[in-house]
Amino acid sequence: MRGNDFAFRKKKRDVIRIEGLEVFAHHGVFPEETKLGQRFFVNVVLYTDTREAGKKDDMALSTDYGRVCMEIHAFLTSHTYKLLEGAAEYLAEHLLCRFPFIEELELEIRKPSAPVPLPFASVSVTVTRGWKRAVIACGSNMGDKENYIREASRKIEEDEKCRLISSSDLIVAKPYGGVEQDDFINGAFLIETLYEPEELLAFLNRLEAEAGRERIIHWGPRTLDLDIIFYEDDVIRTDKLTVPHADMHNRSFVLLPLVQIAPQWVHPVYRKTAAELLGMLQEP
Ligand code: ATP
Ligand code: CA
Ligand code: CA
Repeated sequence: MRGNDFAFRKKKRDVIRIEGLEVFAHHGVFPEETKLGQRFFVNVVLYTDTREAGKKDDMALSTDYGRVCMEIHAFLTSHTYKLLEGAAEYLAEHLLCRFPFIEELELEIRKPSAPVPLPFASVSVTVTRGWKRAVIACGSNMGDKENYIREASRKIEEDEKCRLISSSDLIVAKPYGGVEQDDFINGAFLIETLYEPEELLAFLNRLEAEAGRERIIHWGPRTLDLDIIFYEDDVIRTDKLTVPHADMHNRSFVLLPLVQIAPQWVHPVYRKTAAELLGMLQEP
């Protein structure tokens, strides 16, 4: 796991660019396209940090563009998508999972022989995808509490669309919200993820369900609670999701672990760091 400063590093904007990689493949809506195949051209811009590799002149510290080309070719020739959108989406995800130094990429797939009955140069789809930083708060106050939290962190780490960057210590906290129940154990995880916020919530809900979580009373006892505290600088207010978490700034059991893993993370609405929010909560 990487250190705390990881949460606040600037996004790297060094670029490795691959242009016009030709792949003969079988994507398309029409049966002739999947049967006969046609030429596709791929452009990809990989956002990464080349500094270390450059200074040490060491390939092991960079992304091998030759391997990226081979991987693109293998992926596009071993899958068949109806849409360029599908091919681009899954290829982008595949490359981000396969090559750990790529933080973000722009991927364009061109189809110069697309079945359009008019003269045209080519049609293409471009997607931008990348690893997003998020903070997850965890809590448990039933059964083997520490084990539920340990299992959650293991499953987050094992999921290919998540990387666990760091975990806080676990703290013991009194129950919140006036329901008579056992003490909580709370903590927080700093992660990087390829999930969009709603997908991340669905993933966390699945982990809660696997821990046997039942929602009977609001703020009642639970084996596992996983809340999204921050997701990049996003401010989200939908029926299902409020990010940053609506009540985080009032909860020491969220702020104490948060300050351990991401003290400088600035709340995008209140414009205060996690450490400042904790300081304000503790003032008389
Ligand atoms: P609290 O959200 O006040 O900590 P809770 O965690 O006990 O309470 P749950 O029963 O776990 O509440 O979740 C209720 C709903 O909250 C979920 O179904 C989810 O759709 C919604 N929700 C809204 N924002 C978030 C968020 N940032 N993280 C997790 N769930 C959220
Ligand atoms: Ca909660
Ligand atoms: Ca919750």
